[in-house]
Amino acid sequence: MRRLIKESVVPGIGKVKYFENSRAKAFSIKVNINGEITVSVPKKGKLKDAVKFVDEKSEWIKKTLLKMKSKSDSQFVWDEKTKFKTKYCDVKIIPSDVQYVLIHLDENLLEIQYPQEKDVVSPEIQAGIKFGITETLRLEAKDYLPGRVKYLADKFGFKYNQIFIKHQKSKWGSYSSRGNINLNLELMLLPDELIDFIILHELAHSKYLNHGKEFHRLLNKITGGREKELDAEINKHRFMLH
Ligand SMILES: [Zn+2]
Repeated sequence: MRRLIKESVVPGIGKVKYFENSRAKAFSIKVNINGEITVSVPKKGKLKDAVKFVDEKSEWIKKTLLKMKSKSDSQFVWDEKTKFKTKYCDVKIIPSDVQYVLIHLDENLLEIQYPQEKDVVSPEIQAGIKFGITETLRLEAKDYLPGRVKYLADKFGFKYNQIFIKHQKSKWGSYSSRGNINLNLELMLLPDELIDFIILHELAHSKYLNHGKEFHRLLNKITGGREKELDAEINKHRFMLH
């Protein structure tokens, strides 16, 4: 149980909220990515001791706030300066005289217009832009990935059941015990050899469901001895559209 017991503004830090927390054993301070500061106060703790605790930790809070700020500043923003291509399309983001985010997909061009009077960094506009790109990637993924899976499965003699294109938050792909392959549509933002690497990883699961020694031996073999290298490469890529 958490109950707000005090809210105060501390110079140089900002608003601090104190919550009584029946599960807390000691005072603790949390700073989140939006720069919100909350203090947990145990049931037996005194509010004035909590305030003192915050005062003692003020240097740490300031440092953490700065860290959080640079983290949120470096979060990727889609705007008209974004240079971006999907596998088949150039992406143009244009402020214009529209009321809502408008998406227009041609053969080789994805045009996303957003209301010029709105701030492009606002969550609503960012969500609209991401939606346009996500759906374009979904089409491209449905067009490209099944054929590529079939090609690689035939080449190395793997069997699978069905392929599903999804938009998972933290996985490039997965393989189910029923022999179905799930592939993340964000794969379409990776270089071809990394797309193949993920597909080969999932196909190798058709022989070994777990990530045991034999699984890695097989995956390394079908990637021409490059499993470690490709693995390191894929770890440099992040999901961009959630
Ligand atoms: Zn796996």
